[in-house]
Amino acid sequence: MTADPLSWLDARAAERVDAGLRRELRPRTSDTACIDLASNDYLGLVRHPEVIEGAIASVRYWGTGATGSRLVTGTTAEHEQLEAELAEFVGAEAGLVFASGYAANLGAVTALAGRGALVVSDAGSHASLVDACRLSRARVEIAPHRDPAAVDRLLAERREERALVLTDSVFSADGDLAPLAELHRVTRENGAVLVVDEAHGLGVRGAGGRGLVHECGLAGEPDLIITATLSKAFAAQGGVVLASERVRAHLIDAARTFIFDTGLAPAAVGAARAALSLLRRDPAMAQRVLDRAADLARIAGVGQPDSAVVSVVLGEAQVAYDAAQACRERGLSVGCFRPPSVPEGTSRLRLTARADLTEDELATIATVLGEVLAEARAREVVPA
Ligand code: PMP
Repeated sequence: MTADPLSWLDARAAERVDAGLRRELRPRTSDTACIDLASNDYLGLVRHPEVIEGAIASVRYWGTGATGSRLVTGTTAEHEQLEAELAEFVGAEAGLVFASGYAANLGAVTALAGRGALVVSDAGSHASLVDACRLSRARVEIAPHRDPAAVDRLLAERREERALVLTDSVFSADGDLAPLAELHRVTRENGAVLVVDEAHGLGVRGAGGRGLVHECGLAGEPDLIITATLSKAFAAQGGVVLASERVRAHLIDAARTFIFDTGLAPAAVGAARAALSLLRRDPAMAQRVLDRAADLARIAGVGQPDSAVVSVVLGEAQVAYDAAQACRERGLSVGCFRPPSVPEGTSRLRLTARADLTEDELATIATVLGEVLAEARAREVVPA
């Protein structure tokens, strides 16, 4: 009999159990069973009747699937409308939608950098940008978190002609902001291009939710490229690159995740368009997300957040895991970040604000979180 070639998986699983790093899939139940502080539905639109109708109308018209690559049968007139609407919203010349935000990042970075280029990425950039670096075959340098001076040095010392700088606008683990104005300045001075992932910025930061790039006065800059997801504030699924017409045309020709992936499903296109239209009609939604995030931070006893993400660092992985579990048992769904998503000893609860959190929900959150956090903090080792 041959040995089981996957027996090493059992040893790995046991190691993760010992380290408090088990990961479990927890199917979402009904909407009323739990208060949601874990999702990325920042504007609270995934069940909005107009968004649902938008998805249904697109499915009725175009069918359930995109049916092919964007270059073959997967582009509908509605894909192009969505691209134009998103571009106009953020102040970019053009847009190109992808099947996911992950695919948008992989596609944009690999098509714009390659052998003979330099990519400088912030140490806190999202995993999809990290993977994009690896796939790009460019020389990759990781700059310390939020450090434009370091980016400047790395760009100035380069031998490569072409260079790309990568950063999230709002970092997903801590919800902190990239110093975009400075980053853009050093990028431009060094003849490089800045790629900003606005996954957590769109719908939350900037006038009416136009994003942090817009807020920093950088909309439409020819050497700045925005990537984003449609799965957070826009309550759908999919990704987008927002840039110049020239960059869009290049990505259509060269981005492998655009060319070889099936186009975005019509339901997602219809839902994202409806969500964007709602945000345009009620631009104060974006500020409401920030206001609710400030409420959550006050309740959790942490500093005021700059985004929808409120990070409550607890320390050991097991302490954070148990706290998240205790919240869940008491009707609060919260995120739990442990290594390798965050550094050792900084495991945390991650709360995300929604524009539509009610006063009643906030009162329940205050009671439950107050008790759970007091217990978790009592377990932490206090340094001598
Ligand atoms: N970038 C960031 C910063 C993200 O948080 C995410 C999603 N977690 C992505 C990209 C990937 O987007 P998508 O889920 O649409 O693939």
